[in-house]
Amino acid sequence: MADPMFEPRKMQVLTDGALEVTWADGHVSRLPARLLRGNCGCAQCVDEISHRRYFGVEQADPHIRIEDSMPIGRYAAAILFSDLHDTGIFPYKSLRNLCPCAECAAIREVEARTRG
Ligand SMILES: [Zn+2]
Ligand SMILES: [Zn+2]
Repeated sequence: MADPMFEPRKMQVLTDGALEVTWADGHVSRLPARLLRGNCGCAQCVDEISHRRYFGVEQADPHIRIEDSMPIGRYAAAILFSDLHDTGIFPYKSLRNLCPCAECAAIREVEARTRG
């Protein structure tokens, strides 16, 4: 069974070009386009073997917007950016893990600490 924490109920592009995801557990993540663009995991952005990142948040246009998003299977979404980059597949789990809100940041901090 899917974890409601990583199961989107609703995804919409906001007027400022950010992606808003409403999760099955009721949490709402507002994900700025630049944050997502800089965390794209496709082969153009990250070296598949060394995992070295070619394209990060610093390389992303500060005015970048999300044009569209589309579910890919049950576990990920494809995102089209205004720089026409459309090869990125974002697993829902990674979208939730990128949520910049204070609540999620605090959870990640605790997890990082317990992991050592
Ligand atoms: Zn990419
Ligand atoms: Zn959050």
